[in-house]
Amino acid sequence: MSRINGFVGRRDFLKLAGLACVTATGLSCSLLSDRKQAVIADVHSTNPNPVQGNQALKRLLDGNQRFSQQNRKYPDQSLARLQSVAKAQYPFAAILGCADSRVPTELIFDQGIGDLFVVRVAGNVATDIAIASLEYATSVLGSQLIVVLGHRRCGAVAAALKNEELPGKLGLIVDSIKPAVEPVKKISANLNENAVLANIKYQSAKLRQSSILQQLLQENKLQIVGATYDLDTGKVTLTA
Ligand SMILES: [Zn+2]
Repeated sequence: MSRINGFVGRRDFLKLAGLACVTATGLSCSLLSDRKQAVIADVHSTNPNPVQGNQALKRLLDGNQRFSQQNRKYPDQSLARLQSVAKAQYPFAAILGCADSRVPTELIFDQGIGDLFVVRVAGNVATDIAIASLEYATSVLGSQLIVVLGHRRCGAVAAALKNEELPGKLGLIVDSIKPAVEPVKKISANLNENAVLANIKYQSAKLRQSSILQQLLQENKLQIVGATYDLDTGKVTLTA
């Protein structure tokens, strides 16, 4: 198995994931062979500046402090940065966050283009597709940190606390959160906040079941941490 900078190579990753004939760009296998060089433009053989999990976390928390204190630097948002990462991307962290419009990831961490690999879905649910995306961010692109980012007053978590029948596909989200919040229903104080914390923990545990992420964790090439975002103050706080 070929390795890129200690990580699984892109082609091997696709094999591992059973995606050999379906690429991220939707090209067929024949097209892939013809245009292989073109479609792997997001991966470079060597990351010139690998960022370890602890460093990545500090960078995120420093950025969030700038954001919450209204002291933003707006880094990596120039045309030069855009052109630089057009050739290859090395996001220093991956985020599994809620799709809520009040939690825009790059803004709240004061980061720019090519810095973060972000997966956003209502309730920061670790769906199979979300897990696959994070396997790609870490094992192929080399991110060594995943933050599972919940937030106060999350509508998806609140819906999971209620026992209501939901139309369409809405039930899929709620059903993915219900097992997380069931144990905290017995605690009456701060029910919503405790449910948000329980959901972060539960979705983080689901990520840890991925064999690819497990391997990276064992090799000390990955950290998975939980965090909450406070809608009122803009502050991100790490959770236990
Ligand atoms: Zn939410």
